[in-house]
Amino acid sequence: MATPRDLPSADRLIQAARAALGAGPPHALLRDAARAELEAARSVLRAGAPAPPDLDTLVARVQQRLARELDPSLRPVLNASGVIIQTNLGRAPLSAGALAAMARVGAGYSNLEYDLAQGERGSRHTHLEALLTRLSGAEAAMAVNNNAAAVYLALIALAAGREVIVSRGQAVEIGGGFRIPDVLRQSGATLVEVGTTNRTYAHDYAAACGERTALLMRVHSSNFRLLGFVHTASLAELAAVGRAHGVPVLDDLGSGSLLPTAPYGLAPEPLVQESVAAGADLVTFSGDKLLGGPQAGLIVGRRELVERLRRHPLARALRVDKTTIAALEATLRSYLLGRALDEIPVWRMIATPLSALQARAESLAASLRAAGLDAAPAGCQSAVGGGSLPGESLPSAGVELAPGPPGAEALAASLRDGAPPVVARITDGRLRFDLRTIAPEDDTTLAQCILLAARQGATRRD
Ligand SMILES: *Cc1c(COP(=O)(O)O)cnc(C)c1O
Repeated sequence: MATPRDLPSADRLIQAARAALGAGPPHALLRDAARAELEAARSVLRAGAPAPPDLDTLVARVQQRLARELDPSLRPVLNASGVIIQTNLGRAPLSAGALAAMARVGAGYSNLEYDLAQGERGSRHTHLEALLTRLSGAEAAMAVNNNAAAVYLALIALAAGREVIVSRGQAVEIGGGFRIPDVLRQSGATLVEVGTTNRTYAHDYAAACGERTALLMRVHSSNFRLLGFVHTASLAELAAVGRAHGVPVLDDLGSGSLLPTAPYGLAPEPLVQESVAAGADLVTFSGDKLLGGPQAGLIVGRRELVERLRRHPLARALRVDKTTIAALEATLRSYLLGRALDEIPVWRMIATPLSALQARAESLAASLRAAGLDAAPAGCQSAVGGGSLPGESLPSAGVELAPGPPGAEALAASLRDGAPPVVARITDGRLRFDLRTIAPEDDTTLAQCILLAARQGATRRD
């Protein structure tokens, strides 16, 4: 019977690992990894293992542990789920132009808050304002850390200590614990709910307007849908009520979009420029939903209101950094030049025709079959996701794979453990890889990852 005493000493293991690794990692990392592996080996022995691992095995384990520790935690993933804007997978992939702009500006100094013409302090808000006002039709614009921050800043700067009128059907949770009533309370404003869950009319807002009213707020029902006996006041009606009572209208669009979704067979997602045209005084939307840019919250609207937001002390805590501004500027420029469908990955994926996906699916399935796997092309349904267009889907194509004896869950786990990790869907005990959310240049990598994961499963079975 082996005991923990049969294991090498920590010093011996550290020395052997150092000899194997060369100069490599700092002593403290090596020491901790060696101690952790010895501890693990001890508990295996205590549990009754017949023989201790030899020194070479322990050294290899120390090496593996260090490699795991030094690997980046945040890594690229292949998203074969078919959900285009997947919050858990980082939402919008960035355009090549946005990435290049981030690298260019991030690598050195920039005129972030420096007016090059005057040689004096400038404002970080100037870089995006011309693009955002041009694209949205609004007078003024700014960016903050995300749309949740945009809503919070608007409420705290314009409505703290006063009342905000919201339809009962829009006092909702957006996701991730972002609840409109809670955000309102946090901002120091009082929520005045009007109408009923399913029906709210313009006159409900008008009847609630009083001396303490600071804002009329509309919240887009991003991630749910009310069907049947439903009525919502239009934004134009809200704007008329607001004008009549001298109260500004805040429109939280959530995703918002600068391009129409209807040409792709999807329900319309509200357009930012339509909100501005309909008379919203402030419109907020996300940078990394349908805009297809970096995480940010964009605020467009009347100059006087945007100025109040910029001047509020919280604006400093919510401001975006130079690389975000660079990526936003490049992303917005793609829209300005009419190149968004080609250049912005989210829109490229939405606009990819089914026939192109089917052709890729055929060839991926053929290469997997040639390697001995039970794979076939399959139709699937992609979703836009990211709390936009609930219940809407895009016909798509991909590959279906029979997992063999280890089962679908085990194969999915192997795929997630790959380099890069692959996230797929399981339907009816089979794995499904939707190619709409895979860039065509990643098809070969995807095939390799699937083969490797399937082989690992096969090895484990033996
Ligand atoms: C997504 C969303 C938010 C939050 O936006 P983030 O950019 O994720 O902070 C707020 N309101 C609505 C209506 C949304 O859909």
